[in-house]
Amino acid sequence: MRRISIFGATGSIGQSTIDLIARDPESYHVVALSGGRNVAQLAEDARKLNAEIAVTAEVALLPELREQLAGSGVEAAAGEAALIEAARRPADWVMSAIVGAAGLPPGLAALEQGATLALANKESMVCAGPLVMQTARAHGGAVLPVDSEHSAVFQALIGEDIAAVERVIITASGGAFRDWPLEKLAGATPEEAATHPNWAMGQRITIDSASMFNKALEVIETKEFFDIDPALIEVLVHPESMIHALVGFRDGALMAHVGPPDMRHAIGFALHYPERKTLPVARLDLVKLGQFTFRAACETRWPALRLAREVMATGGLAGAVFNAAKERALDAFIARRIGFLRMAEVVEETLNRVSAQSGLITAGITLDNVRAADHFARVTADEIITQD
Ligand code: NDP
Repeated sequence: MRRISIFGATGSIGQSTIDLIARDPESYHVVALSGGRNVAQLAEDARKLNAEIAVTAEVALLPELREQLAGSGVEAAAGEAALIEAARRPADWVMSAIVGAAGLPPGLAALEQGATLALANKESMVCAGPLVMQTARAHGGAVLPVDSEHSAVFQALIGEDIAAVERVIITASGGAFRDWPLEKLAGATPEEAATHPNWAMGQRITIDSASMFNKALEVIETKEFFDIDPALIEVLVHPESMIHALVGFRDGALMAHVGPPDMRHAIGFALHYPERKTLPVARLDLVKLGQFTFRAACETRWPALRLAREVMATGGLAGAVFNAAKERALDAFIARRIGFLRMAEVVEETLNRVSAQSGLITAGITLDNVRAADHFARVTADEIITQD
């Protein structure tokens, strides 16, 4: 029986993971499940899967979680330290599906106990890619991508020599505003941005898809995951979201990964790797689909893509600063404190101000330094937002 834990169990990725696990309960022993505010869902799943422990990130919600788990035999805990403690419990496979930089500490703790980390939390790679990979190596663990684009690249690279890779193309749907005229974008609302044309995902990543910050994070994630020269990474808008990534080799071959927009494929692939097992995802009818289309990803429409290039060129802790500033700008947009286009300006200004602080971005990539850069970037972004 495999021991598994799911961090971010109450979210979109977490629920899809539970869907797969619950179809084959005899094969898994669930060690830990974590959630945030949705304590009712967390308790329901912890009972259903007979988890050892359920942890909410919200300390104030611990009494409610305890009450909901009364008599179940499932332990209840709350707060960041409890999340890390739960991630340290021996498990063979751990899903990292918390949203935001908060996913990094439990992910590192899981790797430190030698687990295979299925990484949906792209922010971990953006903030601290070298630390994540080095922790996996040091403790005999492994990191498997769950982001659909990175799972696609990973699958296209199986059996290949990375030195033969000429380019990596990750696709983007273009999000909610793909076809909006540029001049209309300034007035876009959070509700409009939170509607994705193809994928059903959490609110934050859906808005990040509309602004292309999600793709910007993924470009950085591609560099960190596969140790690929940023100059070889391209973004293409592919409105159908059926091809998730393509890898081009030096002989001119271009290997595409094609599949329906259903995260249970990438999650299931990471769950069963290196085997391929039957998964409950739709099979594509290519004749019905008829055609796939592509457009260039315009950096004027989506400045987040340009910023990602600058972050990769800067290196060090620039990714942690970028992500933290993006998280605060996104919070401010959701709270209607800033407009849609202002998000990229806030992030760029934060990067400029933080880069001017000597030593902050060039400090080594340790968890403490990531936390310090993250904190400083959040304070700086908040100052910029408040000045608006
Ligand atoms: P959701 O918003 O749906 O879920 C996020 C999860 O994290 C929930 O369990 C939430 O708890 C929990 N959470 C929120 N804030 C905190 C915090 N501060 N500390 C601890 N836990 C917290 O997100 P998604 O499932 O959409 O995305 C999760 C991650 O996977 C993100 O990094 C995203 O970029 C990535 N990803 C998502 C894809 C998707 O299709 N959804 C595709 C590829 C990658 P609660 O809801 O109980 O408050």
